[in-house]
Amino acid sequence: MSELLFNHLGGRWQAGTGAGTPLVDPVLGTELARVDATGLDLRAGFDFAREQGGRALRAMSYRERAAMLTAVVKVLQAQREAYYAIAAANSGTVKNDSAVDIDGGIYTLQTYAKLGEGLGDRRFLLDGEPARLAKEPVFQSQHVLVPTRGLALFINAFNFPSWGLWEKAAPALLSGVPVVVKPATATAWLTQQMVKDVVDAGVLPAGALSVVCGSSAGLLDALQPFDVLSFTGSAETAALIRSHPAVTQRSVRVNIEADSVNSAMLLPGEAPGSDAFDLLAKEVAREMTQKSGQKCTAIRRVFVPEALYAQAAEAIGARLAKTTVGNPRNETVRMGALVSRAQLAAVREGLAHRQAQAETLHDGSRHALVDADPAIACCVGPTLLGTREAAGSDASDRVHDTEVFGPVATLIPYRDAAHAMQLIARGQGSLVASLYGSDAGALAAAALELAPLHGRVHVVSPEVAAHHTGHGNVMPQSLHGGPGRAGGGEELGGLRALNFYHRRAAIQAGTATLAALA
Ligand code: NAP
Repeated sequence: MSELLFNHLGGRWQAGTGAGTPLVDPVLGTELARVDATGLDLRAGFDFAREQGGRALRAMSYRERAAMLTAVVKVLQAQREAYYAIAAANSGTVKNDSAVDIDGGIYTLQTYAKLGEGLGDRRFLLDGEPARLAKEPVFQSQHVLVPTRGLALFINAFNFPSWGLWEKAAPALLSGVPVVVKPATATAWLTQQMVKDVVDAGVLPAGALSVVCGSSAGLLDALQPFDVLSFTGSAETAALIRSHPAVTQRSVRVNIEADSVNSAMLLPGEAPGSDAFDLLAKEVAREMTQKSGQKCTAIRRVFVPEALYAQAAEAIGARLAKTTVGNPRNETVRMGALVSRAQLAAVREGLAHRQAQAETLHDGSRHALVDADPAIACCVGPTLLGTREAAGSDASDRVHDTEVFGPVATLIPYRDAAHAMQLIARGQGSLVASLYGSDAGALAAAALELAPLHGRVHVVSPEVAAHHTGHGNVMPQSLHGGPGRAGGGEELGGLRALNFYHRRAAIQAGTATLAALA
């Protein structure tokens, strides 16, 4: 039987008492390891994190905690090769795609280490200026941000076992809040290994970082009023979490990052073969195939002026045709596997559901697999769908409602810019939209029009072609999260991320007391 991965809780490594759930190589079908959380004393483990971990972290200044993040970076950098091997085996990703997860996580930690250094030796943050409460400025209100006295529980999705941990843990630990992470079972190995390396290196106080692998049962029951919960995953699980008594009765603060039907739009007035047109085609093909389309931020809907529909289909299809699919260990392969048989089945089902209202412009099932057995490997080629007429795009609803979490996107023609905006809005709120064009005024107007519906608007014009960071890449300096069906959450955005892990309080006092605060 394969190795059982231990949980780290209550300051020690603990095995579950059950048989465990196997983690499987999605390309070879072999069992890699098992996870199990049966029988763990979650309440005692959470108390330990709050009391030991929380107290030790809060005793440090922002600068000291920033130095701690830098120490975590060093531990992770020393093991990068091992992480790449785990990602290839457990997530089925090619090296470039593993980098988005592994190096993306390390970069996010580095960014927060730098930001934290800038906060200096303080142990709380001032929020705004004092406001007079009386006619004379002798009695005023000063808002402060202080680290919450609870823990941060992260329940994460399978697609980013590294970045999904560190993009949340970096601002939490910098804020002085201990972390418990529950990775998605399918890809828990990388998260567990990273936590193990960091804990074993002794660079964090005891109780600052815990990992529970396996079932989520009982995790929310163990949450208390000052804890915070950050969830990334499907809208269905998010709904269960929102209705749990920890949230509805104990007021645990929740952040939800859910699914999203993200858009890319070529603005009117761009000719086929123009820079903007080519930049759109390139980005769409990249977004569809990176991590086999298993990115919450991936482009799902592609809007082009109706006169350019056929040319856009051809340009994107030509790029997709070059994508070699199969075993990520083969150097010629550009796109690896989906994460599991369950995901493969879900993608096939979602695709069939979508195909009932669309034509297939590039058929992923025509891609032969390289070095992989189609009966075992969870690999699929990229598929571009299309709704042929602009009027047809008004009638079809599935393209705006259904997130197929794989290498699938749909081309949609629009009549004019206002029509495109209406269609994009039918996504009911997304993580990100990207715009492609060369007219700065039109791009700025469209960006502002889309801003209320998105956490991020990514604008690509020819002069930023070599500099832009990619539609789906989440940069720690920018907000991640989106309104409506995207979950209504907010993460990252530089120091804004610290708000979630701090409590805001108003201190009303005389001038001398307020001066003594600082
Ligand atoms: P999921 O099935 O909702 O699982 C997410 C996490 O929730 C997993 O750790 C899962 O554990 C756990 N979970 C399952 N049932 C639970 C329950 N009743 N109570 C508490 N936790 C529970 O989602 P997924 O399939 O892993 O992820 C794919 C989805 O995530 C996609 O829709 C994607 O768009 C979305 N996503 C969003 C973002 C974002 O930032 N907005 C990022 C990545 C992914 P088990 O694995 O043990 O079941």
